[in-house]
Amino acid sequence: MSWKIPLADLDFGPEESAAVQNVLQSRWLTMGEVTQEFEAKFAQMNQVKHAFAVTNGTAALHLACLAVDLRQGDEVIVPSLTFVATANAIRYTGATPVFADIVSQYDLNISPASIESLVNERTKAIMVMHYGGYACDMPSIFSIAQRYHLKVIEDAAHANGSELNGRKLGCLGDVGCYSFFSNKNMTTGEGGMIVTDNDEAAAKIRLMRSHGMTTLTWDRHRGHASGYDVVELGYNYRIDEIRASLGLVQLGKLYKNNERRRQLTQLYQSLCVELVPEVTVPFVDYRGISAAHLLPILVPNGVDRVKITEYLKQQGIQTSNHYPPIHQFSIYNNKGNVARLPITENAANREVTLPLYPAMIGEDVVTVVKSIQEALRKI
Ligand SMILES: *Cc1c(COP(=O)(O)O)cnc(C)c1O
Repeated sequence: MSWKIPLADLDFGPEESAAVQNVLQSRWLTMGEVTQEFEAKFAQMNQVKHAFAVTNGTAALHLACLAVDLRQGDEVIVPSLTFVATANAIRYTGATPVFADIVSQYDLNISPASIESLVNERTKAIMVMHYGGYACDMPSIFSIAQRYHLKVIEDAAHANGSELNGRKLGCLGDVGCYSFFSNKNMTTGEGGMIVTDNDEAAAKIRLMRSHGMTTLTWDRHRGHASGYDVVELGYNYRIDEIRASLGLVQLGKLYKNNERRRQLTQLYQSLCVELVPEVTVPFVDYRGISAAHLLPILVPNGVDRVKITEYLKQQGIQTSNHYPPIHQFSIYNNKGNVARLPITENAANREVTLPLYPAMIGEDVVTVVKSIQEALRKI
């Protein structure tokens, strides 16, 4: 289907093609100089000590769970209103995700009060996800973590470039994870990054990313190492130089593109207040610097979200729903003990994600909001 206004769009040009060509001509295709440069630039831009590029965001989350030493019997408090990978990564280690509710229909992030009500002697960590690039209430979450000695992992897949009090989201907790999947604010097709300021966690991540081996092919190629030992049961979560080269170019465009996303978000917000005041726009009072990855709205209670999105589809406008709550998926609720997360369930039912990408023009935003106005009148 060809959309008049798609949900998301890439910002790829001749720079990306040239970067890939350079790698192909270098004849070194897996983790090497370009990956190191990508990691160094990412760490520098985020003012974080260690950054490891990996094969995707889910691999980053798995490594984060390993880095804080999750194992069977541990519980991790996590939102349900997120992509399923957030919770799956916890389960890969044998630990159990425990789902917390969100704050409200205006703040779709995990609720500190709900987190605190779920803490018990098995709780080992809190995994937050900054919905749409808008920061969770990190001061409250860190205070809970300190009180109960819990680790904090950030799923910053939406928040690449977001800031809270001058610091980058993803770099506040013990370990942070980013995704470069093709619909994210910067992309390498598939790809991810994991960051930490903790040297011990970094050493574990470095090992686990490549089979638990003590040296890399690249080190041996350069003559910096000859043999290797295997000291952990690791994985192959390496990225290749082709995707790292895309990442470097995309990283150079990230802040400018995020700025454009914020401008479009403001336009959406003011048009929604003016034309469809019955619609709820979450994060409308947000004061921090958001990567503005998503533009979520909640249709009024009692209005069928699917009817609205079907109408928009007829106008050539693509939308999405972030997210079907994880606790309602079959593999998470089959034990008959479905959690009750009333605010999450209500918001997920009403949520429509509107088109947002840097090349969008103001006129597109007007078209989308006017179409929502028409849809609400007709239904
Ligand atoms: C995209 C995404 C992921 C997973 O990233 P992949 O790179 O697709 O593995 C995890 N969590 C959230 C919130 C995401 O949006």
